[in-house]
Amino acid sequence: MSILGKCPYCSGSVHSRKMTAQGKGIKLYSCENANKEYDESDAYVFTADSTCTFRVYSNTLLRFNKRSFGILEMKKLLQEGQIIVRLHGGKGSSEYFKYVIPDKEYGLSILWDEEVEEKSA
Ligand SMILES: [Zn+2]
Repeated sequence: MSILGKCPYCSGSVHSRKMTAQGKGIKLYSCENANKEYDESDAYVFTADSTCTFRVYSNTLLRFNKRSFGILEMKKLLQEGQIIVRLHGGKGSSEYFKYVIPDKEYGLSILWDEEVEEKSA
């Protein structure tokens, strides 16, 4: 487990860990104060001692055809507060670039209304 940076919401450390989701290895970038567990009814919920909700799964942008949000991207996001990602519309369409910022509830948020000039993702 390595520390990637500081949580933008509570200043806790954000760690990276490997996990498996639907048979695929993915990474979870999670604030040390935002832990989840399965409760008695098998719901995946925040633990009672969690004081934060900032968690990002590496496959979180999969529906925009970005296969993985990498460790370096996560580090940069925590450092700079915003990064440029390359997304893709799917078969037959071209790639495009968008700004991404942290989101307390959903992990990441894409700024759809902002045009990206510099294509350095
Ligand atoms: Zn936090």
